Amino acid sequence: MTDKYDVIVIGGGPGGYVAAIRCAQLGMKVACVEEWINKQDKPALGGTCLNVGCIPSKALLESSERVEEIQHHNADHGISVEGLSVDIPQMIARKDKIVSQLTGGIAQLFQANGIEWLQGRGKLLADKQVQVTARDGAVSTHAAEHVIIATGSTSIELPIAKWLDERIVDSEGALDWESVPDRLGVIGAGVIGLEMGSVWRRMGSEVVVLEAMDTFLAAADADVAKASKMQFKKQGLDIRLGSKVSAVEAGDEGVTVSFSDKKGDDSLVVDRLIVAVGRRANTTDIADPAVGLELDGRGCVVVDDHCATDLPGVYAIGDCVRGPMLAHKASEEGVMVAEQIAGQKPHMDFNTIPWVIYTDPEIAWVGQTEAELKEAGVAYRAGSFSFAANGRAKAMDKAAGLIKVLADEATDRILGVHIVGPMASELVGQAVIAMECEASSEDLARMCFAHPSLSESMHEAMLSVDGRALHGINKAKR
Ligand code: FAD
Ligand code: NAD
Repeated sequence: MTDKYDVIVIGGGPGGYVAAIRCAQLGMKVACVEEWINKQDKPALGGTCLNVGCIPSKALLESSERVEEIQHHNADHGISVEGLSVDIPQMIARKDKIVSQLTGGIAQLFQANGIEWLQGRGKLLADKQVQVTARDGAVSTHAAEHVIIATGSTSIELPIAKWLDERIVDSEGALDWESVPDRLGVIGAGVIGLEMGSVWRRMGSEVVVLEAMDTFLAAADADVAKASKMQFKKQGLDIRLGSKVSAVEAGDEGVTVSFSDKKGDDSLVVDRLIVAVGRRANTTDIADPAVGLELDGRGCVVVDDHCATDLPGVYAIGDCVRGPMLAHKASEEGVMVAEQIAGQKPHMDFNTIPWVIYTDPEIAWVGQTEAELKEAGVAYRAGSFSFAANGRAKAMDKAAGLIKVLADEATDRILGVHIVGPMASELVGQAVIAMECEASSEDLARMCFAHPSLSESMHEAMLSVDGRALHGINKAKR
């Protein structure tokens, strides 16, 4: 047994490593247990996000968007490129380089903050002791005043579509293909299905996405979902809603996916298949059963609004607890827990966590959708503005999409902002700031935004709540 730590964090993803850094900043003696072994067979920090999630997927989205631009969107500008060639192994190598730079950066931050990295698999024992099993099987036990569980999540494997070499893969496998499949199937039209489907469609695959639900992007506002689906269809992403997959079989001709939809039984044959039907919390064997760590029906660690478990001094954050599986949500929970341990009174507003889907057009939102407000019986006013009337979007050749604003009818407080269009991931930050500051749509309507800029569409959407959009047709004029 080593000296007692103030805090041991189990898991070094964006939840765990951020919690460890914030604890160290606040003067605590901190260790972080992390078992990740990367592609180069080396231990790595950064979790799913940095190694096989947010960052590598965005690297490939960027590369593939450049290919698409050159192939399909340059002619209008009077630019023609002949002899285009794409070196996919180089594209993957660039992605891998970004990953190793960023994960190496976390290791440096650990050193700079005096955080000890305990390499291996962590398990919570009684009395806030943590057992660490190293890769070579060596077992050590460490004690702490506080333990933060940040073990993240893993792709759900369908029993009818078990992982199979590079033919039936999850998002991690699809980030490493070194050739383009001619025919690609995707099960699940969620965030991963749309992002990874977009990457490989841009690279030349014929992509069919099978989605079990009848509604497209059920979590998004219906207008945004509808507008984005139209764009995906135009691009050739074949999204088939209401498709229930019944069997998947790999053979010489490819992978045969049998499914049924409202027209009856059907099947398709693809060269490769991505299964993207959600992720589950990594909570198997993370605590000795005698400890009594409570899990919910989905296997998530049960926590309160401040990420405290029922066990005194034990917290859990990120993908292994309730709420959206998003890196920034995990990190904010990590900061909140660290500050609580230090005796501060932090608070997180889960209603202002932004969502972004990094397709083209990007989809982003914060706050409530129109359907949620209707269901809750909240009286609201809606405004929207189309990027088609935005000069900057036109100049960028990215004028598809809109910004929609929902504001409380009585107080005008902004309740939700929903965007589909260029740089939605950046624009949604303005909405987060406005909502955190409890701004009204009138507040933003009376601010001055640079011209020409995409932000002008945010301004116009706010004006339109009051029927005052200057470059759009208002339903009610005031
Ligand atoms: P993780 O990042 O999963 O980290 C958990 C860590 O704990 C892992 O490193 C794991 O090795 C370690 N661990 C688990 N059990 C143990 C144990 N017993 N002992 C020691 N270590 C352990 N989110 C966004 O916000 N934006 C995006 O653009 C985005 N893109 C994504 C793209 C893809 C393809 C995927 C798969 C996910 C994406 N996400 C994105 C989701 C995001 O990656 C997760 O929400 C985020 O990583 C959660 O952080 P976390 O720290 O809770 O868990
Ligand atoms: P998801 O929950 O976003 O989507 C899964 C989809 O699969 C849903 O639409 C669901 O109805 C469908 N589905 C489930 N079972 C099915 C079946 N048997 N047949 C057909 N369709 C089925 O999950 P995901 O796309 O796997 O992503 C996992 C998590 O990773 C998400 O929760 C997301 O928060 C996170 N993530 C975030 C980002 C981002 O923030 N940009 C990017 C990637 C992943």
